[in-house]
Amino acid sequence: MPELPEVDALVTFLRPRIVGDFVTRTDIGELSILKTADPPLEALNGLEITGVSRVGKSLIVAFDGLELVCRFARAGWLVWHELVPTGPVRMGKGPLALRLHLASGAGFDISEAGTKKNAAASLVADRSEVPAIANAGPDALSIDAAEFTATLAGSTARIKTVLEDQSLISGIGNAYSDEILHTAQLSPFATANGVDAPSLLDTIREVLGHAREALIDLPPAKVKAAKKRGFRVHGRTGKTCPVCGSTIAEVSYADQSLQYCPGCQTGGKKLSDRRMDRLLK
Ligand SMILES: [Zn+2]
Repeated sequence: MPELPEVDALVTFLRPRIVGDFVTRTDIGELSILKTADPPLEALNGLEITGVSRVGKSLIVAFDGLELVCRFARAGWLVWHELVPTGPVRMGKGPLALRLHLASGAGFDISEAGTKKNAAASLVADRSEVPAIANAGPDALSIDAAEFTATLAGSTARIKTVLEDQSLISGIGNAYSDEILHTAQLSPFATANGVDAPSLLDTIREVLGHAREALIDLPPAKVKAAKKRGFRVHGRTGKTCPVCGSTIAEVSYADQSLQYCPGCQTGGKKLSDRRMDRLLK
């Protein structure tokens, strides 16, 4: 799932290429992506793009009077076309879910791989009409130490769960929470209110900041591979921790998993996933 650094890379890439351009045509390849019915997507035709921004893990393309809020879910991403294909889009053939054609001849798709259709686009007069945006907590890069300290102090949940809770702090998902907790040398199962919040916040800024620097200015097609190259624990089960040489371990639950280094994070102890399984049922 694209998180804060990847969506920031998209914003930086798109802004100079699409702001000031006009929408000439819209295509839908997957009906379920559109979470709003009124106005229809065709309402964008003829409108000028006035801005591109990010809230949490969502990409927001602003037009004269409308905003398109895109949430990528786990397998969604943006495909950029210097010359957008003009042939008809066949419905339900995937991965293309939504396509915008621009007056310059360029364009972009919101696409989603796989059979689960969780990516979402909402066309609204104002982003606050989208619940995920209205309920978003402060951004992971702008939350201040006092606010973050209060957030952790008020929670007895696991720190991994808190970092991924978009209503508490927005922008971090499964991958960067693994990376942040590894750098902070904290167990993903540590109780939030026992964690040194200012120190963890420094680590959040450091990890997300490095990731952003590595991804900025990359074309969207290269972001995913570049993101993976930067990981030290996430998605690296069985490989060697670059910090301490221990073997990266994993806890699987529901339909996802977390990775951590027993040497750096849990005093050599293996975490059990049984409690996590129960919690998620
Ligand atoms: Zn380690």
